[in-house]
Amino acid sequence: MDHVLGLKCTICGAEYAVDEVSYVCPKHGDDGILDVVYDYAAIKARFSPAQLAHTPTDMGIWRYKPLLPVAPDSPVPPLRVGWTPLYAAPRLAELLGLKNVWVKDDGVNPTASFKDRASALAVVKAREAGAQIVTTASTGNAAAALAGLAASVGLQAVIFVPKTAPPAKIAQHLIYGARVLLVDGTYDDAFELTLKVAKEFGWYNRNTAYNPYMSEGKKTAAYEICEQLTVRARHFSFSLSQEYTSGAQSYLGDRDSFGNAPPLQTPDRVFVPVGDGCIIGGIYKGFRDLLALGWIDAMPKIMGIQAAGSSALVDAWERGLQGWEMTPQPADTIADSISAGLPRDRNKALAAVRETGGAYLRVSDQEILDAIPVIARNTGVFSEPAAAAAYAGLVKAVQKGLVDPAERIVVLLTGSGLKDIGSAMKTVTQPPIVAPNLEAVKTVMGV
Ligand SMILES: *Cc1c(COP(=O)(O)O)cnc(C)c1O
Ligand SMILES: [Zn+2]
Repeated sequence: MDHVLGLKCTICGAEYAVDEVSYVCPKHGDDGILDVVYDYAAIKARFSPAQLAHTPTDMGIWRYKPLLPVAPDSPVPPLRVGWTPLYAAPRLAELLGLKNVWVKDDGVNPTASFKDRASALAVVKAREAGAQIVTTASTGNAAAALAGLAASVGLQAVIFVPKTAPPAKIAQHLIYGARVLLVDGTYDDAFELTLKVAKEFGWYNRNTAYNPYMSEGKKTAAYEICEQLTVRARHFSFSLSQEYTSGAQSYLGDRDSFGNAPPLQTPDRVFVPVGDGCIIGGIYKGFRDLLALGWIDAMPKIMGIQAAGSSALVDAWERGLQGWEMTPQPADTIADSISAGLPRDRNKALAAVRETGGAYLRVSDQEILDAIPVIARNTGVFSEPAAAAAYAGLVKAVQKGLVDPAERIVVLLTGSGLKDIGSAMKTVTQPPIVAPNLEAVKTVMGV
């Protein structure tokens, strides 16, 4: 891992070697979230966008292995995580009076959410550490992802979720063979419990923003967005595989005579649903990596969207607080995946928005629910409430006049609608029951 320089505390800036600490900054205890520091010169010397363009997309996130904190020869799980589709969404754009909107469908990951990107990393790191058992606290999706990825390599997972987690997610944990403990409390309670349990039993802990490697897995979505926008801009009429290989030449062909033009394109703004803040921190890290490598020339503005009933980061952003000044808030929203009273990755999450000139916005549960069928009917992507919140946030940003109509906008759809049918069904009416004959159909159809 000589491309990784170390781990830096997001509170005090102290740096540690990777084998010096396991999870957090010793000076700051469980709040001392660490950020992985890379040797960009070393990475640049052996990896390039042109090489990337020739790397098969069915490797998913492992196409970016030279940019990830894993040993080059570490075995990776067989499930295909990442390289999820980025769909142009012209009808959503038109609804909002915008020109360029894309949705990235992370619901097509193996366990149907964005969390697979992090859990894939967790499984590799657990095996590097020689662990037999991995554990996590979760609102549901992180645990489903860990259970699935662990099953793919024969590791045992132990899961702590609030007893109120949606049944589809608990079904995933159980079917993948994880040991499931339903915590009589909130996600925040489950998180604290897992810290104690993992220390007591010596299990490998995947907890978001306690384990510094989870945002590194999540950053791969930012890489994909830039690659996918680049390829699409140049070869939009080809099939994906054709456009992708021919993209390899154009990465180089587009450089000016000094070789200075950045090879990849960026969106102007990215909308991210935020609970703990690990996804948004990871997205920020991904773009920062590309900027440091000189592969892009500007940072997109990052927009953090929270449910009004769980909006500790919106408050902190509005009040100018630092992450370590935040205190636990009540968390109550239908969007269970973004329900977090004290967002665990708050330092990275605030930096993502502050350093890019983005904004934090709140959306109501009703706005979230309303967004589910709108996204589905205008793109064909069925989202769970947390994912739909990102689009509800775009609607809000347009209403507030924060978005220029010409901007290139990406909305991250982080999880499949099949995760939470109960919420989805609140947005539609029950279909009529019809007798199995033509007359009955005619009556129902009113013809
Ligand atoms: C976890 C999750 C989020 C929020 O990610 P954080 O890293 O907790 O901010 C958003 N959407 C879905 C579907 C999720 O599972
Ligand atoms: Zn520290």
